[in-house]
Amino acid sequence: MKFTTVKGTRDILPDEIISWRYVENVIHDTMVSFNYKEIRTPLFEKTELFARSIGEHTDIVTKEMYTFKDHSKTKLTLKPELTAPVVRAYIQHNLSQLGPLAKLYYIAPLFRQERPQAGRFRQFHQYGVEAIGSPYPEQDVELILLAKAIYERIGISGYTIKLNSVGDPVCRKDYVERLKKALKPSLNLLCKNCRFRYDKNPMRIFDCKEERCREIFQERAPVIADFLCENCKQHFEAVKRHLDDLGFQYTIDPHMVRGLDYYTSTTFEFISKELGAQDALCGGGRYDLLVQELGGKPTPAAGFAAGIERLLMVMNRQQIKVQDEKPLQVFIIPMGVQFIDSALRLIDRLRNKGFSCEMDHLRRSLKSQMREANRQKVKFTVIIGDEEMKRGTITVKNMENGVQESIPEQKLEDYLLNTLKK
Ligand code: AMP
Repeated sequence: MKFTTVKGTRDILPDEIISWRYVENVIHDTMVSFNYKEIRTPLFEKTELFARSIGEHTDIVTKEMYTFKDHSKTKLTLKPELTAPVVRAYIQHNLSQLGPLAKLYYIAPLFRQERPQAGRFRQFHQYGVEAIGSPYPEQDVELILLAKAIYERIGISGYTIKLNSVGDPVCRKDYVERLKKALKPSLNLLCKNCRFRYDKNPMRIFDCKEERCREIFQERAPVIADFLCENCKQHFEAVKRHLDDLGFQYTIDPHMVRGLDYYTSTTFEFISKELGAQDALCGGGRYDLLVQELGGKPTPAAGFAAGIERLLMVMNRQQIKVQDEKPLQVFIIPMGVQFIDSALRLIDRLRNKGFSCEMDHLRRSLKSQMREANRQKVKFTVIIGDEEMKRGTITVKNMENGVQESIPEQKLEDYLLNTLKK
């Protein structure tokens, strides 16, 4: 029997890891420069946490979660998103004691049983932030600045920013009534899913990808902007004003409601034309009611999540090359089994001093060890053989310029350091 990865999942192989590490390092550095603190939560949580927060009628909860029962018959789910777990942790550990504004970030694998296609996986990775404590528009703006800063530092371009406000439960009530009224005459033209959502959670119909349904929404659905209450309106105006002041280009998408129920007020997405059908690079917004909904004190909050695979796809398309951050420095070549002890002692010494080193473990000839060192693009080879042992020296070859020197063994570290500095 041959085993392969499960549909929708993939291995990240060593030659891709260089890009992953690079992206992760940029994320960590940028988060630190925006004063966000990392948080790590378990891979699975109680199913109820997601059903309550994401919304019972969302695609994620109705069809995409990996849910199972453990031995105690507790229903558990592999996390399909990070906002609910982070808010759960915030409440559980009383993180408000750290200060009135908790600025948290994560990098984590997620699981959604979606139909796999380019840029859509069943296990994928997101980085994201949750800023818990501020009700103000400048917090929303910071999130957009942060998302953009990461893309800028990585060097990708050609994305656009979409913005909307989904209002709060008060303004949404009127909107939903008008939405239902406007769509009622076309109800039999909408897909089965939309008809179900029409009854259960009408704003979710905007998640529908069916062309025909989308045409009907474009034509008939009122836009929420016309229903925003004074508070939501002012908040949204302030977000736009700050972005304008910062010289940001964005478009308003009045039907962008995002696929999760907990959003209130501002929502945004970064879209890349390099991505095809799955074009969202990241998305987020405000969720002022979620902390209370999950059992905490009423606390306003906002966040965003971004896909790492999609970011790497754009980097690939835009040919952003990443250098191996720590190429191999030294390859030690014992010229026979009798020199293996000396080679092991030397490699141990060099590694303890911080050099990246390798030696042959296959007892190959000098020629093929040299070939291997070349293949691995090593900076120096160090040869240990009879002559060297007699004189207490070793032969170092700089593989970049071909210069070969015989030096006292004890001076090797100084020699390597001096040459590396040049
Ligand atoms: P969401 O949590 O659905 O708002 O998604 C946030 C971001 O995660 C998206 O903008 C994508 O970049 C990424 N993403 C969401 N679902 C998937 C998936 N199935 N496969 C790969 N990336 C995804």
